[in-house]
Amino acid sequence: MSLLWANSQVAGLFCQGLLDQSMKKKDWATLRKLMVDNQLRARGIKDERVLQAMEKVPRHLFVPENMQEVAYSDEPLPIGEGQTISQPYIVAYMTEAIQPESWKRVLEIGTGSGYQAAILAELVKEVYTVELIPELAERAKTLLDGLGYQNIHYKIGDGTLGWPEEAPFDSILVTAAPAKIPTSLEEQLGPGGRLIIPVGEMFQDLYLVIREKDKLSRQKLLSVRFVPLVTLH
Ligand code: SAH
Repeated sequence: MSLLWANSQVAGLFCQGLLDQSMKKKDWATLRKLMVDNQLRARGIKDERVLQAMEKVPRHLFVPENMQEVAYSDEPLPIGEGQTISQPYIVAYMTEAIQPESWKRVLEIGTGSGYQAAILAELVKEVYTVELIPELAERAKTLLDGLGYQNIHYKIGDGTLGWPEEAPFDSILVTAAPAKIPTSLEEQLGPGGRLIIPVGEMFQDLYLVIREKDKLSRQKLLSVRFVPLVTLH
């Protein structure tokens, strides 16, 4: 009994040792693989393309330098201007929910660090991303341009209004929470289009809205915590 206990302790120390080593060497690819296996696959994310994108995009480049060591941990992180980058699981969950097929044009509200935009850009044809805070939008664009993404279109402004000039969209993904679903976003969904959005103030739920023929279906998925979607009017 005590031998078993001792062995498992040793095994635990050994694993921890491996993890420490890879952290020290900044072996980001290993950390990404662990993140995909332990946080995403283990919790039921199934879309292989989404898992591949999460394994590829260098999340540590989207967080402040002093946060890079924890970039692949199971939590949201601050990105400046009082905003946050979502937990990896939530990014994967929302991406999977909009069914990111390769022919799609997708609107994202809340560019933030640009991480979610990069994940989408790996998967779909065109990404349209709107951010209210110019400093964040500019920083994200510089990083994403540097990483070579050419299918992302940027707009600085109020995402509550969507991007009417480019509508309709096949999917819309909102990464900040309004008190209720903005009608302009529902209106900018094309036929069969899917909108994923956190809704609420203190307590929020993630909703999936689907445009089916001449009606909209709205489904509540899970409880979440996002920064508020700032409403200007
Ligand atoms: N998708 C981001 C996370 C963004 S956090 C990422 O991957 O890093 C939410 C973002 O929504 C913040 O950057 C915030 O400035 C932005 N935001 C809040 N209200 C907005 C609005 N009305 N229009 C556009 N962006 C908004």
